[in-house]
Amino acid sequence: MKRFFFAAAVLMLLVPLGVSAQQKPVIGVSCSIDGSTVEAGMTYIVSVRKAGGIPFIIPLTTSEAEIDEYLDKIDGLLMTGGEDVSPLLFGQEPSPFLGTVVPERDTYDLTLIRKAVLKGIPILGICRGIQCLNIAMGGDLIQDIPSEVPDAIQHRQTGPRSYGSHTITIEKGSLMARLLGEKEVAVNSFHHQACGKVASCFKVTAKAPDGIIEAIESPDGKFFGVQFHPEGFVYSGKKAFLPIFQHLVKMAGEYAASK
Ligand code: MN
Repeated sequence: MKRFFFAAAVLMLLVPLGVSAQQKPVIGVSCSIDGSTVEAGMTYIVSVRKAGGIPFIIPLTTSEAEIDEYLDKIDGLLMTGGEDVSPLLFGQEPSPFLGTVVPERDTYDLTLIRKAVLKGIPILGICRGIQCLNIAMGGDLIQDIPSEVPDAIQHRQTGPRSYGSHTITIEKGSLMARLLGEKEVAVNSFHHQACGKVASCFKVTAKAPDGIIEAIESPDGKFFGVQFHPEGFVYSGKKAFLPIFQHLVKMAGEYAASK
């Protein structure tokens, strides 16, 4: 009987602890702006959900105080794809082939990333997101692949988002290799910009056959980015790319537990 009461007491202690430890991490999702409407693709939202996180869109703002308030509410950050980044932010003049630039989104993205890094909030950057991650930490971009990279392959596919149009080679022993396998993988490609000089805190962990950077990561795996669109695959049911989001959610869970 004594033993029963002891076990019951232990259970009563552990159950509430277990419940709080199992709470899903909150993943802030960056958005774009169209007139007075902010938006984020359902592909990102669904991918975070499938990976076990709770997605929340962070409204676009250039206010540092507001960004601080939003970052206090999240455990991980997903930086999404979108427009070109202003080259003035990485020390270059605009190429004639530069696309649309949205200055307030540049400020929002770079402020989110810099503040999240300082707070230790894990970040996954996708497409524009990997580019902003690199710029925020001191790297730069290729502004337009076709006009700047001789012998470049096609990085702006016309097929569906669930279709892998070019291969990437993944660095052995990297986080990306753990998530996707140490092999060539076919990925989708919807970009004409790419990481140029890579910030010293990152290593390059995947490249396309023409040398274009397709993935970067910090040594601890807390900050990482991909140039392709894993959310396009996950949304269409291709589970092979889900580990990328699961890693973000796992790191976010660890951050939440450390708060
Ligand atoms: Mn590509």
